[in-house]
Amino acid sequence: MSTTKDFSNTRTFLIDLTRCTGCRACQVACKQWNQMKAEKTTFFKGEGYQNPQTMSEYTLTAIRFRDYEKNGENEFAFYKEMCMHCNDPACVSVCPVSAFTKTPEGPVVYDTTRCIGCRFCMIACPFGVPKYEWSKALPLVVKCTGCYARVKEGLIPACAKACPTAISYGGRNDMIAEAKRRLAKWPEKYVNRIYGLDEAGGTSVLYLSALPFTELGFKGVTKRPLPSYTWAALRLVPGVFLTMGGSLAFISWLTHRKDRLRKEEEARKASKTQ
Ligand code: SF4
Ligand code: SF4
Ligand code: SF4
Repeated sequence: MSTTKDFSNTRTFLIDLTRCTGCRACQVACKQWNQMKAEKTTFFKGEGYQNPQTMSEYTLTAIRFRDYEKNGENEFAFYKEMCMHCNDPACVSVCPVSAFTKTPEGPVVYDTTRCIGCRFCMIACPFGVPKYEWSKALPLVVKCTGCYARVKEGLIPACAKACPTAISYGGRNDMIAEAKRRLAKWPEKYVNRIYGLDEAGGTSVLYLSALPFTELGFKGVTKRPLPSYTWAALRLVPGVFLTMGGSLAFISWLTHRKDRLRKEEEARKASKTQ
């Protein structure tokens, strides 16, 4: 559940893909700031030439690539994939142990100490963002945090800071106004759409593009907030799966309770010996 319903000033990315040079400074800055491990990748020559191909348990943002023809000339388009920090996030609504939170500032954050690895968020997210730690014995999910620790201190996210050209960051209404200004000033340069304005009920990441978004690989997402769909969709999931989620939530509750009791016991013993 969102902690605020007024999104006019929530911190928001405006990513102008016509200004993205594909330098990947954002990708590197994200790795550095979040201390993410390097991963072994291969150069992918299918739909584009991006490397790594997409986000993963080690890569919270990735630059995707498309080449296309315009007026007989070869052109490149890049787009930055990351969590959309939805206004009304499906991941928040579906998580049985409330591991996700939509902060009043805008970023949707994730508490690993609560996660039980049930992967409901992966099923529910319309943008395919949360990734599973397949490499670990006890995997959890990971996703972009919107650099909440930085944002709380009045800093801008590491990727926005590193980007030389394409990323603006500020209040949502200001970013929408800036996007509209560019669309009005250079109608020949852009498709007339702000992706993220209404998708999934609106997001804290907005995009402008020269190419239709579907050609870039963006998902065609409903404009209604997703939580209203989420439970309808999950009702179709076999009962055993839901039961499993409930059981896992209960196991997690027990584990956390045991952990809390153990810590209380240790604190009590420590105070007796002083
Ligand atoms: S994009 Fe997915 S993971 Fe990110 S806030 Fe929205 S529903 Fe959650
Ligand atoms: S907001 Fe932070 S965590 Fe998210 S993609 Fe940018 S640098 Fe990475
Ligand atoms: S840093 Fe900016 S220009 Fe460079 S790849 Fe990322 S979004 Fe594009």
